[in-house]
Amino acid sequence: MISLEKQPSINGSTEKGSSLEERKKLAIPLPSDQDASGRTLGDDEIAMVTQAIRTGTLTATKGEFTKQLEIRFAKCMDSLHSHACSSGSAALHTAVAAINPEPGEEVITTSITDMGALSAILFQGAIPRFADVDPRTYNVTAETIERCISPRTRAIMVTHLFGNPCEMTEIVQLATSRGIPIIEDCAQAFMAEHHGKLVGSLGDIGCFSLQQGKHITTGEGGMVTSSDPDLARRMFLFINKAWGYGDPNPDHYFLAPNYRTNELTSAVALAQLDKLESSVRNRTEMADLMNQLLQDIPGVYCPTIRPGNKHTYWKYCLDVDASVIPGGTVALGKLLKDQGVFCGPRYIQKPAFQCQIFRDQRTFGNSRFPFTHAAPEAVDYTPEKFPGTFEALSRVLVLPWSERYQQHHVEYIADVIRSSAQKLLQA
Ligand SMILES: *Cc1c(COP(=O)(O)O)cnc(C)c1O
Repeated sequence: MISLEKQPSINGSTEKGSSLEERKKLAIPLPSDQDASGRTLGDDEIAMVTQAIRTGTLTATKGEFTKQLEIRFAKCMDSLHSHACSSGSAALHTAVAAINPEPGEEVITTSITDMGALSAILFQGAIPRFADVDPRTYNVTAETIERCISPRTRAIMVTHLFGNPCEMTEIVQLATSRGIPIIEDCAQAFMAEHHGKLVGSLGDIGCFSLQQGKHITTGEGGMVTSSDPDLARRMFLFINKAWGYGDPNPDHYFLAPNYRTNELTSAVALAQLDKLESSVRNRTEMADLMNQLLQDIPGVYCPTIRPGNKHTYWKYCLDVDASVIPGGTVALGKLLKDQGVFCGPRYIQKPAFQCQIFRDQRTFGNSRFPFTHAAPEAVDYTPEKFPGTFEALSRVLVLPWSERYQQHHVEYIADVIRSSAQKLLQA
C-alpha cells in the first residue's frame, strides 16, 4: 500500500502566480513506456533471450519458448487455450478469421478504438458496424450494441478501452440470447476484471497486444485466448498459413497468412509475464492515489468505473467539462504539456469512421471491397447516430501511465492538473 501521508510535494510552489518559466524548471522527468525509464525490461529478459539463442531454434514451430508461453498465458488469463502471434492487430484478425464471416456480414465494434481492430474485420471481407459508446466510460454497452444488431451480424467485438472493462454481464446476455460470438479486444486491459472475472475470459475469444506501449511488452507481439477448442484450433491454423501441423494428412486448408511469433519474442514475453501482476498492481495503486489527489476540482473528473469492474489503467483519463473549464480538454492539455506532463486531449481526435479508409472506402485496388457488399445502414456514419462518441472525444484527456510511476510522479502530475485547472477557471 502506498502512504497517503502528506509529503513535501516535488512541485512545491503550486500557488497561483508562479510563471510558466518557473514551472518548466520544476518539471520532473516522468517515466515513459517508450524507453527503459517506464518499462521493466532487464536482466530476466536478457537471460531468457540468451537461453533461446543458445538452443539454436528460433522458429516458434519447433521451439519450446512459444509453447511454454502459450500454456502459461492461457492459465494466466483463465482460458483453456492460447496462441501467440505477431501483433495485437494479427490477434484480432485471427479472431475474426476463426469466426469466418461471409463477405458483407457485420462485426459490431466501437467507434473509439485502434485501427488494428477494424482492419482485422475488413481483411476478412466483413463490415465493421460501429456502435456508439457510453460518454463516461468510452465503452460500447449492451444498449448501443443492440441498436446495431441485424440479420447480418456475425460477431461482436468489444474493446475494454484504456483498461476499463465493458459492462460484460449485459453484453454477454444479449449476445448469448442472439447466438452471436464475442471477441474481446484486451490490448489495453490486461488483468482487468468484471465481477471477479478476467476480461478475455468473458466472451468467446480474447485478444492481447505486446506492443511497446502495453502493460507488458516484447516491442511487437500478440496473443489470442479461447476456451472453445474449435475456435482455438482455427486460430492456430490461421496464424500458420492454415497448415495442418501434426495432422495425419496435412495440407493448407484455407487462405491464411503467416502471423507467427518467434522464440526470441516468446522468451522476452515469458519474462514479462512474470511481471504482469506487479505491473498491474503498481498501475492501479498509483491510479488510486491519483483519484484521491484529484478530488474537488470543478469540471475535472476521475475515470468512471461501473460497479463490479476493476480498471487496470493502460492510461489514466481525465473527463474535462468544457462548460466549467474554459477551453475544455484542449486548453487543459496545452497547460499540462507546457509543464512537462505529456498528454493526449481527445485521444484519437475523431471517431474511427471518419478516417479516410472509411470515408473513401480505400481497400483493394479501386474495388472498394468489402464495402461493395455492405448493407447501407451498416455504413451510415451520420454523426447524429453517435452522440456518446462525440461527447466522449470532446471531454477525454489521456494521460500516459506507467508501472514505474511513483508517489512523487503522481503528486507532481496532480499538482500540475490542479493548478492548470485553477488557472483556466480564473481566466
Ligand atoms: C494496441 C492496440 C491494438 C493493436 O495492437 P498492435 O500490437 O499495435 O497491432 C488493437 N486494439 C487496441 C485497443 C489497442 O490498444
